[in-house]
Amino acid sequence: MFENLSERLSGVFDRLTKQGALSEDDVRTAMREVRVALLEADVSLPVARDFVKAVTAKATGAAVTKSVTPGQQVIKIVHDELINTLSGEGDPGELKIDNPPAPILMVGLQGSGKTTTTAKLAKRLTEREGKRVLMASLDVNRPAAMEQLAILGTQIGVQTLPIVKGETPVQIAKRAKQQATLGGFDVYMLDTAGRLSIDEQLMAEVEAVRDVANPRETLLVVDGLTGQDAVHTAENFDGQIGITGVVLTRMDGDGRGGAALSMRAITGKPIRFVGLGEKMDAIETFEPSRIADRILG
Ligand code: GDP
Repeated sequence: MFENLSERLSGVFDRLTKQGALSEDDVRTAMREVRVALLEADVSLPVARDFVKAVTAKATGAAVTKSVTPGQQVIKIVHDELINTLSGEGDPGELKIDNPPAPILMVGLQGSGKTTTTAKLAKRLTEREGKRVLMASLDVNRPAAMEQLAILGTQIGVQTLPIVKGETPVQIAKRAKQQATLGGFDVYMLDTAGRLSIDEQLMAEVEAVRDVANPRETLLVVDGLTGQDAVHTAENFDGQIGITGVVLTRMDGDGRGGAALSMRAITGKPIRFVGLGEKMDAIETFEPSRIADRILG
C-alpha cells in the first residue's frame, strides 16, 4: 500500500535540520509529495493543482518553530487548507425545515444509496429533532424501490405515503404534500427515481417534481467510492435541478476521501452528511477534519 503523506513528508524533511523559515526549495519538494498523495486519494487533477498552489503560497516563508519539524509544519498547513477547502458556511447537518410541512427532495443515481439515506435522515429527524416525517417513493418504474422504502419506514417507525398504482411522480409528490399538510407533518421527503446513468428523461422527471414540490432542501446522494464520477454526477444534477447539498455514501469503504475535496471545489456545494454503512444509524454530519485526516493518511 501507499506510504501516507505524513511519512512521506517526514522523509523529505529528514535531511533538513535547520530551523527558521521554510525555503522555496523545501516547499517545492514537499508539494510534489502532496500532489501525489492528493491524486492517490482520487482528487481530480485541476483541484489538486489549485490546492497545491494555495498551500505553496502559504507555506513559503512560513516560520518553523523549535517545537515542530519542517515536515510537521507543512503537514499542518496542508491540513488547515484541506479543512478550509472542505468547509461550507454554517452547520452542514442543519436542514431547512421550518414552515411545515417542509419538502426535502432526494435525488441521485440508482444504487447510490438514495433510498437508504432517505430513511436514515428521516430517522435522524424523528429521533434527534422530534420531527414528524412522511416519506414517499416516486420511483414508479421500480415497484421494488417503493416497497423498499415502505419496509424501511416500518423498521424505523416512520410513515410512508401509501402506494397507489398508476400515478406519475408529480401526482405522488402532490399527494405527499396534501397528506403531509392534512396529517400535520413537519417534513415530507420525496425519494425520486434513480437511473443507472444521467439521462434527459430522469432530469425532466426530477425537474417536474421539483417544480411542484418547491423543496426547501434538494440533497444529492452520491456513492463516495466512485471518485471523479461522483463529481460529474453532482455537476450535472446541480446544473439541471439545483442542489442544496450532497450526501456522500459508502464512506465506510476504503476510499481515500478525495471525492469530497473535488466535490466541494468543483461544485461549490456543501457536503452535508456522510453514509457510513447499511444500518439505519450509519449516517453522520459531514466533518471536514475527518476527511482531511483521511486524505493525509
Ligand atoms: P438507491 O438505488 O440509490 O436507492 O440505493 P439503495 O438505498 O437501495 O442502496 C443500495 C445499497 O447500498 C444497499 O444495499 C444499501 O444498504 C447500501 N448502502 C447505502 N448507503 C450505504 C453506506 O453508506 N455504506 C454502505 N456500506 N452501504 C450503503
